[in-house]
Amino acid sequence: MADIPKDPTHPKTRKYVYGKYGGRCAYCGEEISYKELVIDHFEPKNRGMKSTRNKRINDVSNLMPSCNTCNALKANLTIEQFREQIKGKVEYSFVNWPSFKVLVKYGLININPGVEIVFHYEKNQPEHGGF
Ligand SMILES: [Zn+2]
Repeated sequence: MADIPKDPTHPKTRKYVYGKYGGRCAYCGEEISYKELVIDHFEPKNRGMKSTRNKRINDVSNLMPSCNTCNALKANLTIEQFREQIKGKVEYSFVNWPSFKVLVKYGLININPGVEIVFHYEKNQPEHGGF
């Protein structure tokens, strides 16, 4: 995408990334408003990348629309590390959050450890830009 600036803060870039999955978070699929949009670097930007990779870190092909929750959890993780991080939250919550244990015991939350984490972008093709 030569006409899209390699700058995640540029309005043209933000609009394009926002429209990539029809106004939805590329990870959880939740609908997000343009104002809520957080731009995530699919390939994390601070992982000591080689110079050839650095050139495309801010290319729209590496920028994903994200909700604040997914972006905060993914942080500088790779996609597979992010997937493991999500799976690990169940055990973490069970061990560290007594209220979670109670919700599980009373059947308000069902734990399904076999559930495969499939991200929204893995089930949906990107659309054209948002303009
Ligand atoms: Zn999300």
